Amino acid sequence: MADITTIAHDVLIIGSGLAGLRAAISAAAVDKKLTIAVISKVQVMRSHSVSAEGGTAAVLYEEEGDNQEAHIYDTIKGSDFLADQDVAELLVKSMPYEIYQLDHWGMPWSRRKDGRIAQRKFGGYSFPRATFAQDKVGFYEMQTLYDTCQKYDNIHFYNEWFCTSMLHENNTFQGVTAIEMKTGNFVIFKAPAGIICAGGAGRIYSFSTYAFSSTPDGLDMAYRAGLALKDMEFVQFHPTGILPSGILITEGARGEGGYLINSKGERFMQKYAPGKLELAPRDVVSRSMIREIQEGSGFKHETGVDCLKLDLTHLRAERIKEALAGIREIGIKFSGTDIINEPIEVRPVCHYMMGGIHTNIDGATEMAGLWAAGEAACNSTHGANRLGANSTSECIVWGKITGELAARYATGKKVDSINRKQVLEEEKRIYDGLFRGRGAVNPYEVRKQLTDTMDEKAYVFRNEQELIGALEKVRELKAAMWKHVEDKAKEYNTNFINVMETDSMLRTAEVLLVGALNRQESRGAHARTDYPYRDDANFLKHTLAYFTGNGGPKMTWCPVAFTRYAPVERKY
Ligand SMILES: Cc1cc2nc3c(=O)[nH]c(=O)nc-3n(C[C@H](O)[C@H](O)[C@H](O)COP(=O)(O)OP(=O)(O)OC[C@H]3O[C@@H](n4cnc5c(N)ncnc54)[C@H](O)[C@@H]3O)c2cc1C
Repeated sequence: MADITTIAHDVLIIGSGLAGLRAAISAAAVDKKLTIAVISKVQVMRSHSVSAEGGTAAVLYEEEGDNQEAHIYDTIKGSDFLADQDVAELLVKSMPYEIYQLDHWGMPWSRRKDGRIAQRKFGGYSFPRATFAQDKVGFYEMQTLYDTCQKYDNIHFYNEWFCTSMLHENNTFQGVTAIEMKTGNFVIFKAPAGIICAGGAGRIYSFSTYAFSSTPDGLDMAYRAGLALKDMEFVQFHPTGILPSGILITEGARGEGGYLINSKGERFMQKYAPGKLELAPRDVVSRSMIREIQEGSGFKHETGVDCLKLDLTHLRAERIKEALAGIREIGIKFSGTDIINEPIEVRPVCHYMMGGIHTNIDGATEMAGLWAAGEAACNSTHGANRLGANSTSECIVWGKITGELAARYATGKKVDSINRKQVLEEEKRIYDGLFRGRGAVNPYEVRKQLTDTMDEKAYVFRNEQELIGALEKVRELKAAMWKHVEDKAKEYNTNFINVMETDSMLRTAEVLLVGALNRQESRGAHARTDYPYRDDANFLKHTLAYFTGNGGPKMTWCPVAFTRYAPVERKY
């Protein structure tokens, strides 16, 4: 312990996606004397945010008929009334400024013919308000923010450092433990303030649009430190993942006029959402697709998987090349389909986690000195179902808010001593428990069985029997003798990293499944065939899950903030 290197900063940001970078800029601007560390297990520009394709939601054109109240209502209705309404309001009111701020920092937004910033239609919105940069919005936003970070000498990047646990005492944040992947050294980062921006956990499903690095390490660090995970049962399945990889075809493709067809050639969304058709929210479209498949109107992909088709052929080649060049390339390379010439096979795919670390409207967690922002956080903007384009917005808004709050909190504070018992326990957990574990079962096999189980039993439609089956399987995998690391190298030991990720995936999947079992209703993305209706009398509340050691999570609830709209039936 004595020889463990300790690195001290004022603010630690875990994660270098959109939320982390926006937080870094905002924290660094508070005071140049504060030092801000951005720790990331991948190089900055490999964070999953770079793959955001379709857009970032904001009200820009009130003079043309849009208004902020409509964006607030669309978000709340999209959330199936589980969003905290004051939080949705804060998102909407903050966003227009952030679009222009990004513009001033150099963001190459696509433009209209009149030279002003362009916006396209997106699912669940009453006005075209997805602000876009071709179909690579996340890539350009990340470049813009990363560029802007370079202006601040007080932002320090730790790329390819893997955080393993949080250090705290008296419910006050002190820092994190981490492994420098290049050397394999175990280190302590200490700081009076921290922000978890570690992203979503979508790799707990096999069929997923996420980067392979999108595992729930950040969620699990918070959970193990005694913080609640909130609303984890709500997983978004995006209607259009290509086969067999699950790579995303952006909703922008439907925003541009693309539509879905079944094997009878019908534009089947006319049956399910006559008002909005393919631009109904994602939960509605994904359920409609699965119903079509169940009724025998699907197609079979060459791998035997059921699917439907997205038709873009009626859009002109010129428009596709201009607005959807990225997904055309994806179609050609990963599906063998040129969307200019033929419809592309698609199927609902795991795409977003509405749940995350429980925070308040400011992104503050239940621990003093610790905030969470972006997809890892659940401040309840999205409730039971997120609208497309509202997530990059959320990352930007709460990155900015939490960065500033954390920096102000850290000003004048120092961490005098570190909770040494926790450091020793963490060393024991990862080195004795995982690295030197003697399990005989292949951890990659465990990871595969876990993610396949989630695909099979906790997908678009759920029921008690399958959820219980999934939970039993996850608990069986958790208990199996799998903990060991084959590769004993110290430097760049990705085997070790993968084993630590798998450990957190198992715990997080358990929380998700217990939450899904407890929520005996259908709301937003959580659709139970055995409880097909929304039950506001019993379930208009957020799920909270607390870690209890080796037993399952302790479950409780917390209220939804209502400031403007009473729940009504959702129709599109
Ligand atoms: C394919 C795809 C397309 C999307 N398109 C859109 C869109 O068009 N519009 C929209 O609004 N939303 C979109 N989304 C959702 C949105 O992009 C994400 O929710 C958002 O970018 C998440 O950003 P983040 O900053 O929270 O985390 P991420 O960008 O996921 O970054 C997570 C960071 O945490 C770090 N990290 C994780 N664990 C550790 C650890 N143990 N130690 C150290 N670092 C760690 C990672 O290295 C990474 O830097 C899309 C998502 C996907 C998957």
